[in-house]
Amino acid sequence: MEQLRCQKGCLNVTQASWIVAIGDEVLSGHTLDTNSNWLAERLRETPFPVARIIVVPDRDAEIEEVVSAAMDRSGVARIFCCGGLGPTPDDRTVPALARALGVALVEDPATMDRIRVRVRRLHEKGRVPSPDPNPGNRKMALIPAGAMVLRNPVGMAPPLAIPLPSAADQRWLLVLPGVPRELRVIVDQEMIPSFCDGGRAVTYLEAQFQGVPESQFFALLSHLAEAHPAVRFGSYPQAQPGTVIIRAGSSEPTALDRAMAELLERAPKPSL
Ligand code: AMP
Ligand code: MG
Repeated sequence: MEQLRCQKGCLNVTQASWIVAIGDEVLSGHTLDTNSNWLAERLRETPFPVARIIVVPDRDAEIEEVVSAAMDRSGVARIFCCGGLGPTPDDRTVPALARALGVALVEDPATMDRIRVRVRRLHEKGRVPSPDPNPGNRKMALIPAGAMVLRNPVGMAPPLAIPLPSAADQRWLLVLPGVPRELRVIVDQEMIPSFCDGGRAVTYLEAQFQGVPESQFFALLSHLAEAHPAVRFGSYPQAQPGTVIIRAGSSEPTALDRAMAELLERAPKPSL
C-alpha cells in the first residue's frame, strides 16, 4: 500500500543554517532539545534549511569555538544560538558571543528601560522584593556592540540579530532565549519574516510502504540517485513494524515528480 504526501520545503544547500543549542541541561539529559527540532522544521520552509545542529555546554570557550567555526564556514548564512540568556551566572552565551565576534559588551539603554518596567511590575505584584533591577536583571541588558535588539513579546531576555561580515549576501547570527514558549514566538514574529525570507520554496514528496523489508529498496534507490541527481532520497523505517517511508526532496519540482513517479512504478511489491 502506498500513500503520497507532499510538504512544502526548501533544499537550497548553498545557503544553510546552523543551530547551536547551548545548555548543560541539554547535555545532561535533563532537558530534551525540542528547540532545535522545532526550529529545523520551521527553517525547512525557508531558503535556509538546517545543515548542522550542535549542542554545547554553558562554557565560554566551547560556545566561542563552535560559533567561530560556523562564522568561518562558507555557505552558513544563518547561525541560530539558542539558550543561555538567563539572569544567572551559569548563562554564558552573550559574553561568549562577544568574544567570538571580537567586540565589547555594552549596555543597551532601550533594553535596560524595558527590564526596569518589567521588574517594577513584578514588584507591584509582590513577586520580587525590590522595584529596581538586580545584577542578574542588569546582565540581560548587556549585548555585543553592533547587535540589533529584537522584540521579545513574552519574556525579559533580548533576542539579537548580529550582522556578520560577508563578501556576498548578508549573513546573520541570530540569538534566542532557550525557553521554548519565548523562542517560538520570537522566531515566528521577528526572525523568519525579517531574516529568512526570499528564495524559492521547493517540494518534498514521500511514499509509505508496508510489508517490504527496507533492504529491498537498496537497488532501486541506488539507481534513482544516479538517474535523478537533482533529487535526494532517504529511507525511514517507522515505529510500526514493516512500515517504511521513502522521502524525496529537490529544488527542481519537475525532476522531483519524475523521480517519484519512477519510485512508485518500480517499487518492490509487499512480500507478506
Ligand atoms: P536558558 O535560556 O538556557 O536559561 O534556558 C531556559 C529554559 O529553557 C531551561 O530551563 C530549559 O527548560 C529550556 N531550554 C533550554 N534549552 C532548551 C532546548 N534546547 N530545548 C528545549 N528547552 C530548552
Ligand atoms: Mg540554559
